[in-house]
Amino acid sequence: TVRTRVAPSPTGDPHVGTAYIALFNACFARQHGGQFILRIEDTDQQRSTAESEQAILDSLRWLGLAWDEGPDVGGPHGPYRQSERGDIYQRYAQQLLDSGHAFRCYRTPDELDQLRDSLKEQGVQRALKPSDLELPAEEVARREAAGAPSVVRMRVPEEGRCEVDDMLRGTMELDWGPVDAQILLKSDGMPTYHLANVVDDHLMGITHVLRGEEWINSAPKHKLLYEYFGWEMPQLCHMPLLRNPDKSKLSKRKNPTSITYYRDKGYLPETLLNYLGRMGWSMPDEREKFSLEEMQAQFDIQRVSLGGPVFDVEKLAWLNGQWLRELSDEQFLARLQGWLFNREYALKVIPHIKSRVETLSQVVERAGFCFGDAPAISAASFEHTQLASEDMKEWLQYLLWSLDALRTWERDALFGVAQSLARALGVKVKDFLHPVFVAIAGTPASFSVVDAMAILGPDLTRMRLRSAIE
Ligand code: ATP
Ligand code: GLU
Repeated sequence: TVRTRVAPSPTGDPHVGTAYIALFNACFARQHGGQFILRIEDTDQQRSTAESEQAILDSLRWLGLAWDEGPDVGGPHGPYRQSERGDIYQRYAQQLLDSGHAFRCYRTPDELDQLRDSLKEQGVQRALKPSDLELPAEEVARREAAGAPSVVRMRVPEEGRCEVDDMLRGTMELDWGPVDAQILLKSDGMPTYHLANVVDDHLMGITHVLRGEEWINSAPKHKLLYEYFGWEMPQLCHMPLLRNPDKSKLSKRKNPTSITYYRDKGYLPETLLNYLGRMGWSMPDEREKFSLEEMQAQFDIQRVSLGGPVFDVEKLAWLNGQWLRELSDEQFLARLQGWLFNREYALKVIPHIKSRVETLSQVVERAGFCFGDAPAISAASFEHTQLASEDMKEWLQYLLWSLDALRTWERDALFGVAQSLARALGVKVKDFLHPVFVAIAGTPASFSVVDAMAILGPDLTRMRLRSAIE
């Protein structure tokens, strides 16, 4: 039976790209009466967080994508979280060491730099290969005895070409030259993506891997690992990446990419799935509006076209209007209530306005900006800040750049960013935050802008700062 999976890494906000890949995997599995699995790839312990995993599960569930097996629902091939499968990867790495398909590498970071430099000096255009990296047996023994750290690397061919089959592209030929002796187990014993991904796809019985195009260059390594283990490789299908309207890869610097953003903005889950279903794919009759059930019924992976699909927020908004229009008044009310009175969100806002209002009706004015669209602002909105508009824009731009680098989105961290920018600009934090206040809330009759940014979250905040600059 057909088994597909989506394998997100919980390292940030739930990405629309993850939903897109999940949607196509789910449709492919359902169409063949198979199963669709969710696996959490959290081998990068520095960057993975439990909150991010929860947000991914919540947002995929909000979209209406259901998985047959996963960390939350269990299943016969668990655990479905890679951080809980450490001993499995150790075992398979050992198997490759025993069969000679992998080797322990004791090279230090300095040595690796030197080796790369010397390849460059010789004008050799290839990655580091086992023959570059391996040390004489005595030296290996010496370093081992001294307790030096080591990693496990795979053996890869020095040259030649590798043929990889892709469901959409047919047979692709990729050069071995740029393929390095990939690390499989890090010095701390954790696997890298490549080892964990191949081992898990095999043990979980995955038959078809639909994933982003960005992984094509990993395919030769994966193919070789399947050969080393003597396992059948799943069929690969690399999906075209989503793009910004300017055709660059969709990125949060130019467009909101978090599923949470679209939920908070009042898009219907049906719309987002419908729109993602139109990314590189279309219904046989080319109709624009269709449900998940309709897409599953008509699904055909061969209808995916490889030109980069553009994720255009304006088109998405248009489509959402179409979906809203077809709801009955009662249905519309139910959606509105569910959105406007989202408990969790409302409870974040309430502590900041409770002490500032005398009647409930004032809530609309004080907190409207937390629920509505970006405030309508003009040059006049900034007049009271007595700032030249260039300065104002410069400040907001600095803030945007600093926020891109921020790893935890919470009040104190946000205030810290404002403080250090104000210091660098030689102004008071209060003055620095003035234009930010206008960009975020539109009106001074509100609560602390740092709290407001924390509540709105990264995508809505960025969007408002960007539109104040434009
Ligand atoms: P950004 O460039 O906005 O920082 P990113 O590439 O760093 O995005 P990741 O956090 O690496 O985003 O990706 C999260 C998930 O979303 C991954 O599974 C990745 O494959 C997927 N993804 C990211 N960008 C795209 C895209 N343009 N199209 C499809 N999927 C994407
Ligand atoms: N963890 C990878 C990602 O975040 C999975 C890639 C794959 O599907 O093989 O995209």
